[in-house]
Amino acid sequence: MIDKRSFRCYHNGMFARLGKGLKDILYPPTCIACRKRLPEEDGDKPVCRHCYVSIKRNLPPFCYRCGRHLDIRHSVKSLCVECIRKTLHFDRALSPCKYEGVMKELIHAFKYRNKDYLGKNLGALMVDFIREYGFDMKPIDLVMPIPLSRGRMREREFNQAQLLGDCVAKAFNKEIFLHGLIRHRQTKPQAELQGQKRLQNIKGCFSLMNADLVKERNVLLIDDVLTTGATASEAASVLKKAGAHTVFVLTLAN
Ligand SMILES: [Zn+2]
Ligand SMILES: [Zn+2]
Repeated sequence: MIDKRSFRCYHNGMFARLGKGLKDILYPPTCIACRKRLPEEDGDKPVCRHCYVSIKRNLPPFCYRCGRHLDIRHSVKSLCVECIRKTLHFDRALSPCKYEGVMKELIHAFKYRNKDYLGKNLGALMVDFIREYGFDMKPIDLVMPIPLSRGRMREREFNQAQLLGDCVAKAFNKEIFLHGLIRHRQTKPQAELQGQKRLQNIKGCFSLMNADLVKERNVLLIDDVLTTGATASEAASVLKKAGAHTVFVLTLAN
């Protein structure tokens, strides 16, 4: 004898399975990076195993400022050649991956092909990295994603840095501060510009809603990519002017 409730559960389960079967026939799951069809047992994964193992990890030793792998033959006081030459306003940046190959493809899909569900998988890479290298999260008071301008937010409908920041804040039980920093103009994509132009492009584009909230606090800024560091540095300089004690940066790739 089957009661009404278990019949309903069975029925719903059956439809869910049927729905999934139909969806898999119409749109077979493919790897986001190489676009090849995924084997059935990996159908729920965003990338195939081959692509997953080809993600280039950022390996220690790290430059103390930008967080890139440090060639110790060309370093002074744990800083890379680039960081010796320029001023970056954040204290330290960290990234689990290199911005190339599969990771570049994934970040591109995440931002421009509306794959916002990737936020959880990519955020988990950041969390694992912090744990693997034992970076101390205890002193961090606030997690702040680098904001998008209102125009870009309307266009994309989500802020990739916020989705990554959500994972990090949740994993380490930290407060996420979403509306502190404001980006009040739409800047050109930094990837289209070189060196000095990147600094000019980003200069003065952030402001802070309530300076008291960051005063004497340790902030962890979150973004998807750190290239020259100009964006994170500009945000950090606004936070430091408002009295933030330290500003760390965590990005997915560098
Ligand atoms: Zn693949
Ligand atoms: Zn560096």
